[in-house]
Amino acid sequence: MRAQGGSDTSRYGRGVRRQLTAFEYRNERLHVEDVDLATIAREIGTPFYCYSATALRRRFLHLRNMLAGTGTSVLYAVKANSNLAVVHLLGGLGAGADVVSAGEIHRCLAAGLGANTIVFSGVGKSRDEIVFALENGIRQINIESEGEFDRILKICDEFDMEAPVAFRFNPDVDAGGHEKISTGRQTDKFGLPAATIRHLWSRARAHPLIRPVGLAVHIGSQIHDVGLYRTAFDRLLDLADALDGVSSLDLGGGLGIAYHEEEEAIDLDGYARLLADIRRRTDAELAIEPGRWLVASAGVLVTGVNTVKQAGSKRIVIVDAAMNDLVRPTLYDARHPVWPHREATPPLFDSVVAGPVCESGDVLAHDVLLPGLDDGDLLAIGHAGAYGAVMASGYNGRLLVPEVMVDQDRHAVVRRRPGHDEMMALETVPDLQRHDTVR
Ligand SMILES: *Cc1c(COP(=O)(O)O)cnc(C)c1O
Repeated sequence: MRAQGGSDTSRYGRGVRRQLTAFEYRNERLHVEDVDLATIAREIGTPFYCYSATALRRRFLHLRNMLAGTGTSVLYAVKANSNLAVVHLLGGLGAGADVVSAGEIHRCLAAGLGANTIVFSGVGKSRDEIVFALENGIRQINIESEGEFDRILKICDEFDMEAPVAFRFNPDVDAGGHEKISTGRQTDKFGLPAATIRHLWSRARAHPLIRPVGLAVHIGSQIHDVGLYRTAFDRLLDLADALDGVSSLDLGGGLGIAYHEEEEAIDLDGYARLLADIRRRTDAELAIEPGRWLVASAGVLVTGVNTVKQAGSKRIVIVDAAMNDLVRPTLYDARHPVWPHREATPPLFDSVVAGPVCESGDVLAHDVLLPGLDDGDLLAIGHAGAYGAVMASGYNGRLLVPEVMVDQDRHAVVRRRPGHDEMMALETVPDLQRHDTVR
């Protein structure tokens, strides 16, 4: 049986099984592929992230097969999960990368990706980042402002380097979703309007070192409605038709998943049909940049129960993971499912799962049904493979959360838990502070 929040009475049952996950109960214990989560917990303690290599492969290959007839390349949006093991695995299957910083380029190169498969997006690239990207021969820089265009031009002249560039078009599509993850509206900070791109395109064509290759669009994240993509792509094709020499179209990421049963994942069939339609309408190379869709459901955050307390009418389960390990519930009001390691049996109780951080916002899940729990029991927070570990911090003096990858019956720590000395290793107490100490 697939993991589904404990039992058929769970609120989180149906969405989970649809999502090609590798988490399921065997002998009433939650496993990642063939490994009991308790085995890893005994070895390295909690909390930790756990990823399924098989789920990552399945999801990547599923998406690629869906798009097979369209010749679309898949550029993994590394910011969703930039662990070297994850990037290496997806790169090995043929994924390129969409990155938003020089740090992510470093990670991709370290994970064995070719520079010519890396596309550099992002709204505020620094001069040093652009130089680094060009020196390493990345595939393309997606330009998001006139200022950035001028900066690249200057760098090319100064270093006598060529720059393959695309322009990120802002199609003025409101992708809905959470305010903090919408990027394609006219007033969002991302991309450029068509008129500006037409102007910059001719300037780029006239410059000997700037090589304008195409256009890019990315309208936001957690998109559930294929129609929004259709509108954005229609506008993108109109713009491409108005320009000479557009040879590549980067169609962005944002494919939505179902975190809970009231949410529908993107209709992949519909999305694939849309891309097939785009394929018929243009000769340009096509690429997409999914992040979340590839990795979210391939990961869980495993946490130990610290104590269960009653606060008025609420049952609060205090666990050892916190908002600094997984900030999505606090930052985006995200609803992640919670799967007890010991398969749930009735009675189930309406519960809040909260961390030990001194913030009332430190809640990992509201209103989940959980069975009776003892101190030391394990819970897995589902669909935590994207925008989880990458957003972790050391707030409250907590150690950065480790990451584990499981592949069938084997597992490896792919980012270990640092020691407190390591957490403090970049800090010093300077002499100038000593004079201020109270004598
Ligand atoms: C974040 C981002 C993506 C990936 O978004 P997902 O919702 O994770 O698929 C793709 N392209 C760009 C430019 C991004 O900033």
